Amino acid sequence: MIKKAAFAKELGNGKVQCLLCPANCRLTPGKKGICTSRYNHKGTLVTDNYGELVSLSVDPIEKKPLYHFYPGSTILSTGPNYCNMGCVYCQNWSISQKKAPTRYLSPEDLVQAAVDSNSIGVAFTYTEPVIWYEYIMDTAPLLRKAGLKTVLVSNGYINPEPLEKLLEYIDAVNIDLKSIRPEFYRKMCKARLEPVQRSIRMISEAGVHLEITNLIIPTLNDSDNDLNVLFDFVASVSELIPLHLSAYYPNYRLHIPSTPAETMLRAWKLAKQKLKYVYVGNLSLAGTSDTHCHNCGTLLISRSGYTTKVLTSSGRRCPECGIETSIIM
Ligand code: SF4
Repeated sequence: MIKKAAFAKELGNGKVQCLLCPANCRLTPGKKGICTSRYNHKGTLVTDNYGELVSLSVDPIEKKPLYHFYPGSTILSTGPNYCNMGCVYCQNWSISQKKAPTRYLSPEDLVQAAVDSNSIGVAFTYTEPVIWYEYIMDTAPLLRKAGLKTVLVSNGYINPEPLEKLLEYIDAVNIDLKSIRPEFYRKMCKARLEPVQRSIRMISEAGVHLEITNLIIPTLNDSDNDLNVLFDFVASVSELIPLHLSAYYPNYRLHIPSTPAETMLRAWKLAKQKLKYVYVGNLSLAGTSDTHCHNCGTLLISRSGYTTKVLTSSGRRCPECGIETSIIM
């Protein structure tokens, strides 16, 4: 469905600029933005992806990944075709970097599908929810009205004004922080690091539940120095942010070998020196996916694959020592 796009500026002579994400595309009539889902139609910025779903399924919340947000629950998950970044190693490239079939679902029908699936709500994920801005802004208030949650799994590449408005309706976010080096973002993702860091700070300051994922790629972002600087940045926002260290596998245009278990263990140990809750994903490594209270060590949640056992009922505070754990349930 075609809709007028939010955050557009007319530049004269039929030119428009999209101000939704930091790419800030300037478009002459007929031209598409980097995300290909917004284009200049006779001097007006429009989007053709409104309500067009590239995928729809019920997933464990742990798969997003979110480990401290309603652990053990399921969430209806969906996303649009395309993305506003161009990561050469994208794990979902067949739907994020290429045209893929979609089907239309109105905001009301998506909310009903979440109710029917007994999910806690809807996760906008798989590709990049930022480029689905208008659809999410229409759907999230309906989800809230129905007592359901709205989750974003995002690259965080969005301008401050649209993000601030969006966060009013969002309950939890996982941001993919791909590296702490600006040149990594430029070369590997065709994007910039600084706006992603700004989004992370804004989400935290807005009090929205936040978890972060870092995909570790051998030789590209796995040095002790890079990892330590990234962990320091996350800790500077909050030591309680759950950090998911994810193992890379060759995909799309990147063919270097997968991340070895030793690298993941080294990264996990380094991160644990700076952050309270660190998990290894995409690879099974004993003892790195359970949640223990960072203060007294009590086992709060055990995980094996996507089987989750929640051993506490007291939510944000450890039932043994009472310290803040950042778990919402
Ligand atoms: S959302 Fe798309 S069109 Fe708009 S600035 Fe970003 S990449 Fe360009």
